[in-house]
Amino acid sequence: MLMRAAVTTGCRDVEVASRAAPESPEGHVLVSVDCVSLCGTDAHIWAGDYPSAAPPLVQGHEIAGRVDGALVVVDPARACGRCHACRVGRGNACRRMTVLGVHADGGLSELLVVPGSGVHRAPGLTAEVAALVEPTSIAMRAVERSAASSATYAVVLGAGPIGVLATRALADRGAHVLAVDRVRERAARARAFGAELVHVAGPDFPGREQRVEIEEWTGGDGPHVVIEATGSPGALAAAIDLVAAAGTVVAVGISTGQARLSMSALPYKELDLLGSRNSGGLFPAAIEFAARHQALLAGLVTHRFPLARAREGLALVHDGAPGLGKVLISVGAS
Ligand SMILES: [Zn+2]
Ligand SMILES: [Zn+2]
Repeated sequence: MLMRAAVTTGCRDVEVASRAAPESPEGHVLVSVDCVSLCGTDAHIWAGDYPSAAPPLVQGHEIAGRVDGALVVVDPARACGRCHACRVGRGNACRRMTVLGVHADGGLSELLVVPGSGVHRAPGLTAEVAALVEPTSIAMRAVERSAASSATYAVVLGAGPIGVLATRALADRGAHVLAVDRVRERAARARAFGAELVHVAGPDFPGREQRVEIEEWTGGDGPHVVIEATGSPGALAAAIDLVAAAGTVVAVGISTGQARLSMSALPYKELDLLGSRNSGGLFPAAIEFAARHQALLAGLVTHRFPLARAREGLALVHDGAPGLGKVLISVGAS
């Protein structure tokens, strides 16, 4: 039996090819992929600036599909189980991590074989919303790292999908959230996700006035938590600058850039500067979150392409127009 897959064959080249359908060994399940949502990582791989992901590769790690007719989401990350991160229970940061669609063939394929432990039933969700569970789990991990509570004033830098999902996850904990983005429309979108206030960042963010406003909003201390979800080196420096003394900065945005950080702010403020990667065991919680906020998540999807036009979807994410939300590729025959 043959199946179709979109194969990234080189820098910015995608070919839709027929391949032999995979066999499902003991302990594994065969997933009929329904749809895949794309993110910035996919665009970097496609454009050839993600060294650990080498073509030819079937991309796609935000995957919704069906096992025996039931809707599932695929956890694309596999940890080695042996390294330090794995031994201390943080396999989400495994140094030998394999992510489907990044280090191994992923979801832009009609059929996908995954270990039984790598699929989670998603009853009640639409397939499109199910495809957003993976990025949701990443946003929830960043919020988990922040340890925010109902007493927390949090600033989220970046109102892309991860930023707005983190905003909603913070608001679900009762935290007060201020969202910041360079693009007015994106900042405004964070309101629907529970931000009390939104700021549009200029190149010198936070300028004097914004800093005063943000400090006043927190009652004078500055934000207790700042989540960096832009991947911009300047934003990480701004986060450290803005955060309250004894506060927490969580860096979830990724880039190949180098940030210049203040050597005094970290010790003087006794900051907790934390990274956040993947999602650990948060898929079940992310599925519950998605069920709670299904309409909100569905509204994040702005573009849809069939598998045959996966290349156009990747190009769109790469170019990152201001109004762009999530781009979905429908993989299934339906
Ligand atoms: Zn992603
Ligand atoms: Zn490991």
